Amino acid sequence: MGKEQTHGQDEFLKSTNLYFDNAVRYLDLPSGLIEWLKIPTKEITVAIPIKTDDRKTKTFIGYRIQHKNARGPFKGGVRYSPEVSLDKVRALAIDMTWKCAVLDLPLGGAKGGICLDTKKLSKSEIRRATKRYIREIAPDIGPETDIPAPDMYTNAETMLWMVDAYMMHTRKYDVGVVTGKPPKRGGILGRNVATGAGCYFLIQEVAKKLNLDLSQSKIAVDGCGNAALPLIKWLSEKDKAKIVGISDSQGCIYNSSGLDTKKVLEFKKKHGSVINFENAVSSGKNEDILECPCDILILAAKENRITKENAGKIKAKYIFEPANGPTTPDAHHILCERGIYILPDILASGGGVTVSWFEMCQNKEGYPWTLSVVMDRLQEKMIAAYNAVSETAQKYNLGNDMRTAAHILAIKEVAETSIERGFWP
Ligand code: GLU
Repeated sequence: MGKEQTHGQDEFLKSTNLYFDNAVRYLDLPSGLIEWLKIPTKEITVAIPIKTDDRKTKTFIGYRIQHKNARGPFKGGVRYSPEVSLDKVRALAIDMTWKCAVLDLPLGGAKGGICLDTKKLSKSEIRRATKRYIREIAPDIGPETDIPAPDMYTNAETMLWMVDAYMMHTRKYDVGVVTGKPPKRGGILGRNVATGAGCYFLIQEVAKKLNLDLSQSKIAVDGCGNAALPLIKWLSEKDKAKIVGISDSQGCIYNSSGLDTKKVLEFKKKHGSVINFENAVSSGKNEDILECPCDILILAAKENRITKENAGKIKAKYIFEPANGPTTPDAHHILCERGIYILPDILASGGGVTVSWFEMCQNKEGYPWTLSVVMDRLQEKMIAAYNAVSETAQKYNLGNDMRTAAHILAIKEVAETSIERGFWP
């Protein structure tokens, strides 16, 4: 994408492109290849008309962006949110390509989304939108071409609706078209906790390598969704770490002596938010959590959380990013200068797609994996990726800048495959 085309871009896409530009400086790649690597292969925009429950009609806009499939079929989740836009889905698709390469999965990168607010629609309205979305993109997806999966505000149930809509198109029993299905319906055990579990294994590894005693650590978690929940549970229960802060879409809570996480999650279930939980200070601004006193900050919510405005005020010494795009490039630079150790999104959020790949293997094999096999293999994959990124950081003299190292590793891998295959030019 030329410079003239970056004007007016979404912040997240700008960040994705800047991280790419920064990493390619370390690689000796032809300029034409660099240009091509930034541009998605195919961008699909669809109109999704549905009948609403009150017998009116509404039309939503949906996207499926396929970035690169040099290393394997396009792969990536589908997000339902009023914040979904073409640029945002582009950025997420590009990051999926790098994520799959960092994790050394034989997959490319894609992402989808529908611009809608699941909190304002009934379940049957969401189901109708899902089915129409898949009907529109059906010719471009498939178990060997592009495999959608869950992302923010989509889940195993959404995936099953997608499978059904796709099978209406192919007239074949093709459950392999999406991952993240319910385990009893062709899904794999552990997929719902996979993003959190992947990050959990990384935290364990970093703690071991850097002599960090988790039982003496104060941890703040930005987010309270699929990625955050297993981390909150396991870090407090297995490692006896102090979870001092938790945020959700409405605000955040903090207690320097540690929160009773079981009670917090029960409270959230009952009241819809963590705010106003007893024995904690509440704030209606969820970004307050980012600056709270803690040793480890886990960014498990969404993009653009740490920016140049708050990067100087972060107190944590370690940051893990199971969310996509939570730190802007300016902020990343400030954090690295301050000596903060960050495990970036394209590594720390890789647990979800890794277990998605296991699900693809399971679907092909037609034989279910046990949960312990899933978790053992996930741990192995996450640690191997962490070691590969650490070695790249050393090789290129990057100090604690694991983000640039992860990008170098991924871009090099995708570039080399594209050249070897004669895929580019
Ligand atoms: N949506 C998840 C992610 O951002 C998982 C994608 C997948 O499983 O394909 O990594």
